[in-house]
Amino acid sequence: MTNEKRQPVMAGNWKMNMNHLEAIGYLNKMAFSLIDADYARTEVAIFPPFTDIRSVQTVIDADHLSIVYGAQDISAHDSGAYTGEISGSMLKKLRVKYALIGHSERRAYHHETDESVNAKVKAAIKNDLVPMIAVGETLDIKQAGNAVEHTLSQVQAALKDVRSNYVGELVIAYEPVWAIGTGEVATPQDAQDMSMAIRQKVAKLYSQDVAEKVRILYGGSVKAGNVKSIMEQPDVDGALIGGAALDPDEFLRIIRWPDQP
Ligand code: PEP
Repeated sequence: MTNEKRQPVMAGNWKMNMNHLEAIGYLNKMAFSLIDADYARTEVAIFPPFTDIRSVQTVIDADHLSIVYGAQDISAHDSGAYTGEISGSMLKKLRVKYALIGHSERRAYHHETDESVNAKVKAAIKNDLVPMIAVGETLDIKQAGNAVEHTLSQVQAALKDVRSNYVGELVIAYEPVWAIGTGEVATPQDAQDMSMAIRQKVAKLYSQDVAEKVRILYGGSVKAGNVKSIMEQPDVDGALIGGAALDPDEFLRIIRWPDQP
């Protein structure tokens, strides 16, 4: 079972899905179904597109919902001539809690590098946002037997020059690229082994105390039908969920992971 010192988080990454009206409908459905016991056990986080964030904030505030929200990306820059970018201070003003950084789709389609991921982690921290850093290997790297080495090097690069007092608060999402949106899920043991390796890496870079605090999620084709066995692993503190989080009923079942088969 997950570590009692770390509150599990279930994070729904909507990617480029759902406009602001659909976001409002989704949240109303969640608000109707979620009860205090759900929020007490598990932090519920959604990552809508930027254009939905104001509407999400308004519904959450109006109904005093305990749902938190994050942005799917953040600019490394503070302000200025960066057309299309969204800064950390803009997100903070909308009371965004998390910034998802280094998702494999951004690394693959937007040429994000370990260096830009590190700059974005620092931009998030500078603006009091919690970085949720995505790492993980492609199929080629896995088949070559280099998954652990590759993933840990992504972790180390993302945290370069980040001070230890921030590291305990952040979230690392282990997302094997071959499992994202494919229906192929890592075995619970594989999710555990990589999460433990990430935690040990954080302990080596910082301290055991920091490593015990950092929350490590698994992401990649998580559904209600497979979430429980993943969540039962001691170093897995939650899940980052794409496709299955678009259906509020399915996301609700995932949030209620102890009740699942
Ligand atoms: C993701 O986008 O981070 C993800 C894990 O997607 P999916 O759950 O659809 O595999």
